[in-house]
Amino acid sequence: MPLTDLEIAKQVDMRSIWDIAKRADIPEDAIEPYGKFKAKIDPTKIKAKKKQGKVILVTAISPTPAGEGKSTVTVGLADALTKLDKNTMIALREPSLGPVMGMKGGATGGGYAQVVPMEDINLHFTGDIHAITTANNALSAFIDNHIHRGNDLRIDPRRITWKRVLDMNDRALRQVTIGLGGPAQGVPREDGFDITVASEIMAIFCLATDLSDLKERLSRIVIGYTYDKEPVTVQDLGVEGALTLLLKEAFKPNLVQTIEGTPALIHGGPFANIAHGCNSLVATNMARNLADYVVTEAGFGSDLGAEKFMNIKARNGAFSPEAVVVVATVRALKMHGGISRDALQAENEDAVLRGLVNLAKHIETVRTFGVEPIVSVNRFITDTSAEIEAILSWCQKHNVRVAITDVWENGGEGGLALAKEVLEVVESENHFAHLYDVEESVRTKVGKIVQQVYGGKDVIFTDEAMRDLQMIEQNGWNILPICMAKTQYSFSDDPKLLGRPEAFSITIREIIPKLGAGFLVCLTGDIMTMPGLPAQPAALNMDVDVDGNAIGLI
Ligand code: ADP
Repeated sequence: MPLTDLEIAKQVDMRSIWDIAKRADIPEDAIEPYGKFKAKIDPTKIKAKKKQGKVILVTAISPTPAGEGKSTVTVGLADALTKLDKNTMIALREPSLGPVMGMKGGATGGGYAQVVPMEDINLHFTGDIHAITTANNALSAFIDNHIHRGNDLRIDPRRITWKRVLDMNDRALRQVTIGLGGPAQGVPREDGFDITVASEIMAIFCLATDLSDLKERLSRIVIGYTYDKEPVTVQDLGVEGALTLLLKEAFKPNLVQTIEGTPALIHGGPFANIAHGCNSLVATNMARNLADYVVTEAGFGSDLGAEKFMNIKARNGAFSPEAVVVVATVRALKMHGGISRDALQAENEDAVLRGLVNLAKHIETVRTFGVEPIVSVNRFITDTSAEIEAILSWCQKHNVRVAITDVWENGGEGGLALAKEVLEVVESENHFAHLYDVEESVRTKVGKIVQQVYGGKDVIFTDEAMRDLQMIEQNGWNILPICMAKTQYSFSDDPKLLGRPEAFSITIREIIPKLGAGFLVCLTGDIMTMPGLPAQPAALNMDVDVDGNAIGLI
């Protein structure tokens, strides 16, 4: 039996966080240790570098529910670059407790390519998600108090769009009624809970460049509408200062280390469907000011995470990604080749070959942005050589850079081939360009994403979406980037259409303006903003011994 991620992480002789900070050239006065192995780093104490580090983005093909190993490859690639004497830093998202307790597991990589202390990072870490939860719910309390105290702003309680949040999968809270029990308990109204990573405050936290930008963005949040259907913002309530205050410590990126000692900043973690799905810009910028190479990740496949990384995050941060790694696994390719989830273990070269249509589209998508992709075949010990060979020869035939990646089994050593390919791309010319201009109409922007990134035919806007669009245009909010909320399993909005579906239409059901985050969320299909727990939650295997050691955490 191979060791579990937790067992491997436990064997690591971690270096003191002071040593890691020293390795990253972080000035002492910027370091605020949280115990021996974690530290917050004050961004105001890190000097801007003239030649900032190059950003390498790790994305994936359309994934299976278990994930294809983006975090694992991100960590392994950074360790490999470090082995090649490249000054490298990682910027990753922080895990949410909902998926940890539910089904997906953590977000700290796997095998010998992990960030540690994984137990802490996957549980409460340095409390950032709690701070975001508190800021979000403080705003809810301010809204309800305002209505209770006379409602000067004339907020229509039926048109409040701001929800409460919790960092747990808890389907029973999706729709709730609050304020029951008579006049002393406030004004009754319908409300609901989202998971914290779906909060607009999480998206804002990850796009803000500094504390004043954070405050500015928080002030722009639309919390709902008046009886005259006019938008009500946080600024109208006058609480942006208090919300920023609640977030000021959380806003400092968290420093940890990989098993092999590469410095890693782990900070922020918005959903990759109703938000943009990558770690904070402040952490990415900090890493670029400290290292020559920054390896980072965006959620789900390139159609969701990478598209938003390019069109939202890179635009906002005014940087160009220099290389994009597309993680592919034999198991996901087989799934795209028509094999059911319970039969993925059996060798099936034909299914792999059929499934390569999915990889082909992701490669095209990355090239659409003018960046050269490198395929990382994240090898599982169950993969057969015929299956791996099928992927390699397909890539060679189609002129696609590819490297087998064994970082799960061998750490940085297993990522050297990938690192060499990445360095070649990073050193060559880059033609990065956004897919659309924000000034273009909402329909044009969405159309470009659907046709060029998803390979779809056209876009259908429901009557409700058309009403939203009209309201957005009336308010002048149309000149914002688009954040598509779509299933991660398919290029289309139907999660069952695997492989490379063609000639499909995407239906936009609703368009939600997120003015603080600075994007328009276009909802397709059923997107869950408060997931539920599965029949056998991962939590059933978890325990803690009398010495406080975690058991069964992934
Ligand atoms: P993603 O970032 O794409 O969601 P992760 O890197 O978190 O995926 O990996 C998901 C899970 O798969 C983790 O538990 C990890 O340990 C496991 N995993 C990743 N790569 C491999 C591999 N090559 N062999 C076995 N397990 C792997």
